[in-house]
Amino acid sequence: MATTSTRKALGKDLIRLAGSRAVFTAPEDLYAFQSDATHYFARNIPDAVVLPEDTDAASAVLAYAYEHEIPVTPRGAGSGLSGGCTPVAGGIVLDTKRLNRILGINRGNMTARVQAGVVLEDFHRAVEKQGLFYPPDPQSMSVCTLGGNVATRAGGPRAVKYGTTGNYVLGVEAVLADGSVIQAGSDCVKQSVGYDLTHLFTGSEGTLGLVTRVSVRLLPKPTHRRTALVVCETPDQAAQVVSGIIAAGAVPAMLEYVPQAALSLMNSIIRPPVAAQGEAYLLMELDGTEARVAEEAEILRSMALDLGAEEVRIVEDEREAATYWKARSRLYPMILTMAKKVISEDVTVPRDRIPEFVRAVAEISGRLGILIGLGGHAGDGNMHPTILFTDLSPEMEQKAEAAIEDIVKKGLELGGTISGEHGIGLHKSRFLEWELGRAQLTAMKRIKAALDPKGIMNPGKLWT
Ligand SMILES: Cc1cc2nc3c(=O)[nH]c(=O)nc-3n(C[C@H](O)[C@H](O)[C@H](O)COP(=O)(O)OP(=O)(O)OC[C@H]3O[C@@H](n4cnc5c(N)ncnc54)[C@H](O)[C@@H]3O)c2cc1C
Repeated sequence: MATTSTRKALGKDLIRLAGSRAVFTAPEDLYAFQSDATHYFARNIPDAVVLPEDTDAASAVLAYAYEHEIPVTPRGAGSGLSGGCTPVAGGIVLDTKRLNRILGINRGNMTARVQAGVVLEDFHRAVEKQGLFYPPDPQSMSVCTLGGNVATRAGGPRAVKYGTTGNYVLGVEAVLADGSVIQAGSDCVKQSVGYDLTHLFTGSEGTLGLVTRVSVRLLPKPTHRRTALVVCETPDQAAQVVSGIIAAGAVPAMLEYVPQAALSLMNSIIRPPVAAQGEAYLLMELDGTEARVAEEAEILRSMALDLGAEEVRIVEDEREAATYWKARSRLYPMILTMAKKVISEDVTVPRDRIPEFVRAVAEISGRLGILIGLGGHAGDGNMHPTILFTDLSPEMEQKAEAAIEDIVKKGLELGGTISGEHGIGLHKSRFLEWELGRAQLTAMKRIKAALDPKGIMNPGKLWT
């Protein structure tokens, strides 16, 4: 970390470049920027935080940082779950909260342009007011930003039917490490011009530059929605119902796997609460035309009951259904209150391999003697084994590390991937080569070196 006098000098320079309202260097202001939502990783207080009000200010700050070789960590809302915006090397945190304007929603073209710091839920409301629909729905949507979603290629329950952020991004404006500004992609729904730098930025986790503006495509808002709850006797049966539904061609908009313990927590919000008689639950939303929703509900009911599910409940009351989804989005914060420390894993497996993955996690939990809850966006195979620390002893840490390693290995063995949505950050960097292989990792490092030759953008992330 810089000394007080160098920090003061840095502050002065940054004020000259971005304005006094945008720059913070007092320790009490910097404290909140030392980590993301994973407070268990190595924290580090940056030397300065800058909240630029436009692209020009962001560009000036990056050009300065590049010249002086100062590390820069982009930050949206800090809701990440992989340590991505932790400023491990100190330097400047470049925070997009003031780049928060929706620049335009084009109904005729079904697209929108937004600044990177727009909060996702605000954007959902704005497009839905116009009868349009932006599906990506990470469960942190009340705080997370569009820029953060692009940088982590975020997804959520609706990914099963609609895909993730990467499927909607048409273009980005980004400031590169040396301060130059690029406009990648466009507002057209198709484009074939050179390398696809737009999608190079999706999932780049702040290591290639700062995204300042995003263009996305929109869909018509579905006219009908129905929530369904399938009560299953065992996790294995629930996993079979998931692959059965997908194979039957009824693709729900959301398909969440909820174990009994999680449902008991969610019951503090669900109204009226659900009698928790099954070991595993599937919470779904069907959407589309009225006829299609009714047809899918019928397919779901007969298929789930044929596989031995205890009950299939179609929730008719919209207000009651809304409490299920509110409870689902609050689940992670509620889990955090239950344990001394919580690590949420993020492995995705092919959907027909979910039963094996569920059994493997139970085996790992039993063998190591630690609590691992298992929920997730089962419809797209993205499972979140969640390690609950009963104490903070070194022994517990070792067991958790061993469990993470075994879970990741099992996911890969089943043809899966080490992260479905949270990204790599600090949390998964040691496993990156397991999935990508040496040659692909080398190719990525060359891209990084070409765009950021001094390595100032978010150092320490993806690979160490
Ligand atoms: C309760 C809870 C539920 C969650 N549920 C989900 C979920 O369902 N699905 C999901 O995908 N994630 C989920 N997350 C994780 C997190 O919310 C997402 O990763 C989200 O996309 C992060 O957005 P952010 O604005 O908070 O980014 P940050 O956490 O601030 O940053 C994340 C990464 O993106 C980089 N970054 C941020 N903004 C920019 C930018 N403008 N330009 C370049 N790089 C940038 C940062 O450097 C960092 O590497 C959840 C988190 C919490 C706490």
